[in-house]
Amino acid sequence: MDYQQVINNIYHEVKSLPVVGEVADYIPALANVDPDQFGIAIATIDGQTFGIGDYQCKFSIQSISKAFTLSMVIRHIGSQLWEYVGKEPSGTPFNSLVQLERENGIPRNPFINAGALVVTDKLMNLYTHPKEAILEFVREMAGTDDIYYDKTVAQSELKCANRNQALGYFMKSFNNIDNDVDALLDVYCHQCSISMTCEELAKSFLFLANHGINPHSQKEILSVSRSKRLNALMLTCGFYDESGEFAFRVGMPGKSGVGGGIIALIPGQLAIAVWSPRLNKYGNSYLGIETLERFTTDIGISIF
Ligand code: GLU
Repeated sequence: MDYQQVINNIYHEVKSLPVVGEVADYIPALANVDPDQFGIAIATIDGQTFGIGDYQCKFSIQSISKAFTLSMVIRHIGSQLWEYVGKEPSGTPFNSLVQLERENGIPRNPFINAGALVVTDKLMNLYTHPKEAILEFVREMAGTDDIYYDKTVAQSELKCANRNQALGYFMKSFNNIDNDVDALLDVYCHQCSISMTCEELAKSFLFLANHGINPHSQKEILSVSRSKRLNALMLTCGFYDESGEFAFRVGMPGKSGVGGGIIALIPGQLAIAVWSPRLNKYGNSYLGIETLERFTTDIGISIF
């Protein structure tokens, strides 16, 4: 399969679509990003990489980080986590509060903000220096040390974190958060601020495309069964209230972020990252989804 040719064709097709969507501006630092950047990168488990457009530009991975922190926590505490967070699609926006009261402070899944806060809270119980541990994990998965927090984005998000603070305090009132909420928000806003390129992102998700084994080092990161579960959650919950539509159109597990990035993968083969900051009404990259839909359609391979 000539992946370079496939993504070249898609890149040019998608780039000529009418310009729609807005960048996320509820985090002020994200509003300053040039909205018309667009990159695609593929990494295969046999070590090849392909890219086009702005695939080597760093951008804010935002909620894509939730898949990293979930992997770190699942790795240590496994199924105990499901006492504190569910595994069902929420059908609500990423920062919604509505289900939490009815469901006794247990978020629907680890990829909505409430669920990700619970996961980060557990991570803080596991590591004395959680911010360092997250960065170390991401660097190991990507196979490069050139990955950092974007302090400007982290501070900007922390200043405007009223909704996430509300989620944190509300869940704490149900005893579902162990740590101090401000300390939790600090770690969470930092994990969201991680800056990566499409190429680094594609490489860093290969362990989930490779049944839990990091193909760079051959080290087991997750068991086969836990890797399967992580992918299942990305398929059912990775795109908030657009998760069903994404599975229907694209047919790959994946995770989006409001920085405009999307990571998706085909187990046994590859990971693909797309970045385009203009978002649709669900907070997912408009061109990112267009690209991935064309990708699985053009190559005729998805997980189904
Ligand atoms: N940092 C963002 C927030 O908590 C993440 C949202 C996202 O990327 O979907 O609001």
